[in-house]
Amino acid sequence: MNVLIIGSGAREHAIAWKLSQSEYCDQIFVAPGNAGTSEFHTNADINIHDFEEVAKFASDFNIMMMVVGPENSLVEGIHDYFQEKEYLRHILIIGPKKAGAMLEGSKDFCKAFFDRYNIPTARYQTFTEETFSKACEYLKGHTYPAVLKADGLAAGKGVIIAQDYEEAFDALDAMLRNKRFGNASSKVVIEEYMQGIEVSVFILTDGKEYVLLPEAKDYKRIGEGDAGLNTGGMGAVSPVPFVDDAFMSKVKERVIEPTLRGMQADNMDYSGFLFIGLMNVNGDPYVIEYNVRLGDPETEAILPRIKSDLFEMFKALHDHTLGSYKLEIDPRTATTVFLVSGGYPEGFEKGKEITGIENVPQDVLVFHAGTKAVGDKLVNSGGRVIAVTALGDTMDEALAKANAAAEAITWQDRNYRRDIGFDLRGMHA
Ligand code: AMP
Repeated sequence: MNVLIIGSGAREHAIAWKLSQSEYCDQIFVAPGNAGTSEFHTNADINIHDFEEVAKFASDFNIMMMVVGPENSLVEGIHDYFQEKEYLRHILIIGPKKAGAMLEGSKDFCKAFFDRYNIPTARYQTFTEETFSKACEYLKGHTYPAVLKADGLAAGKGVIIAQDYEEAFDALDAMLRNKRFGNASSKVVIEEYMQGIEVSVFILTDGKEYVLLPEAKDYKRIGEGDAGLNTGGMGAVSPVPFVDDAFMSKVKERVIEPTLRGMQADNMDYSGFLFIGLMNVNGDPYVIEYNVRLGDPETEAILPRIKSDLFEMFKALHDHTLGSYKLEIDPRTATTVFLVSGGYPEGFEKGKEITGIENVPQDVLVFHAGTKAVGDKLVNSGGRVIAVTALGDTMDEALAKANAAAEAITWQDRNYRRDIGFDLRGMHA
């Protein structure tokens, strides 16, 4: 079977790598892909936002399965488009339709969903420009820090944690009146700050049955010790030591099961991954957010721990047999370290030659993100450039291997964090 993967990050490279191990997959296409995906797979030079173009490619290349990496495509309705066309309906799509993608596409919609189905989360209220003065009143009576969130997609940048009223007012003003995130901030969710440690839990579901994937913790800040600006993600670790059976039982009972009941009650007809961003507050899980696709860099840490055939798992979703699917997981720890361009997440220079990939040991995985082939050279073409993943019997062993690989790959001003997972040291399940 031929598979089409939508996206161009290390997440999509990791999905392509994992699918290529399946005996059921013939050709794997990645649209638009990157220099890494073009090595063993085929990049499709198409505009992924033009569904007609994607559909034509799928039909021309006899695609039987399409895995959608980024949220934008899902929120824009790529799945609905394929469903509406008779000649595309046989294609198995991994990723929800618009209605389900709203769980990520609108924070207000998602918070209302949590409340409707009693899913534990921070208390909140939503405001618009029309209710600006009410929002100010609300903020005056709020506890601090307070969390302000742009309602729509803002590439992970739409959340502001305000330490006092002045900061909160400025953020509100910027979002609602000055449209700091464009249309995405025409509504703002204001919610309570939750104190705890974060973990991401992933399921693959058809909206009724699900399979639980390995959990992960990601590291968002640019600097070591979790300092500095937010990024798309500087690294990840899986498993997460404090996620023991007791915690996971609470996640299943209080979060996953009510979510699936809610999806059914709302006729969401969900199919795909659900990424559950959780805060562990004194041993109890509270939901921070839902994403309707896999995370990046979490994917690069969790897929190498899945021993089962990914294609088979996707097939089980469409056959509605996920409930009895037995996932085989590697018990070792995976650590992912992201190499980024110097200056990122602010301005950085592109086009610098990347060297040293050939010096990375065979057992360390290299996933490309912002890379480009220019002649016979490889250059950086984005902020996050390459993710390396190593497995080890302990977290320290995995990190030592990943860091050594990160050190081996270099270009002018490349940067990476050497402390991925440090905060989890000494914790036990
Ligand atoms: P989100 O885009 O909703 O995941 O928010 C981005 C990040 O902001 C999260 O990963 C958390 O680190 C932080 N965050 C969001 N909401 C809260 C909250 N209610 N309490 C504490 N931190 C939060």
